[in-house]
Amino acid sequence: MDSSALIGLIALGLVFLLEGLIPFYAGRSDRYAHGLRNLSLALIAGMVGVLMTPLLSWSVQLAARHDLGRCNPIAIHPVACGVLTFVLFDLWMYAWHRMNHRIPFLWRFHRVHHTDPALDSTTALRFHPVEVLISTVLNCVLLVVLGMGLEVFALYKSVMVVVILFHHSNLRIPPHLDHGLRWVIVPPSLHRVHHSNLRWETDSDYGTIFSFWDRLFGSYRTRRTYHDIRFGIGRYDSRDWQRPLQLLALPFRPLDER
Ligand SMILES: [Zn+2]
Ligand SMILES: [Zn+2]
Repeated sequence: MDSSALIGLIALGLVFLLEGLIPFYAGRSDRYAHGLRNLSLALIAGMVGVLMTPLLSWSVQLAARHDLGRCNPIAIHPVACGVLTFVLFDLWMYAWHRMNHRIPFLWRFHRVHHTDPALDSTTALRFHPVEVLISTVLNCVLLVVLGMGLEVFALYKSVMVVVILFHHSNLRIPPHLDHGLRWVIVPPSLHRVHHSNLRWETDSDYGTIFSFWDRLFGSYRTRRTYHDIRFGIGRYDSRDWQRPLQLLALPFRPLDER
């Protein structure tokens, strides 16, 4: 198990525990059944991720062997270069997420993530395996282009898993803390807007770690209140649609919600 997976498991356990103690949306009765449904999908997507690991390692080695990227043209300190590639990779994640909403073929798979009618930490791991497959292949290309070292990529994955578990969580955190975090990272409030069942809200707040990409590229959106958001995609809210096998088959159904 790599370090980011271990950090993710510990963070998931901790956040899930806290969600039971200090929930933002109180009164959810089927937290465990909901979590298990999401985790069963996460397990399949995770296996795809594990199978793709050799390709990721090969991409990093390829970049190192041919001295690609690594900020060569601007010759900066290795630490500054690491920070730069970390930030640029997050910009790529922003662009990739936005493409998933814009391109109908990609939306077919990404909508599985958005059909969760009850957002919590387990939603952070709910992805269709084909989305994981495509994103991993594209990540490999980015690793080569940026010449991102394995250690920087491992750090990115570790920070990312903690931030996405946090911003999907059903945690009640002080509003001033959430507002303060908004200047740097994506806090729960922004990602709740992203999971709204209203399309103009779903098509905003695409950030993964950093929130400033949304401010920079005009997709930043907040709300006056967050308690009245309805999550999911209307017609797929029923328990029947939420079964893992139905979710795996969902991309192959007509795109009738857009
Ligand atoms: Zn999305
Ligand atoms: Zn999400």
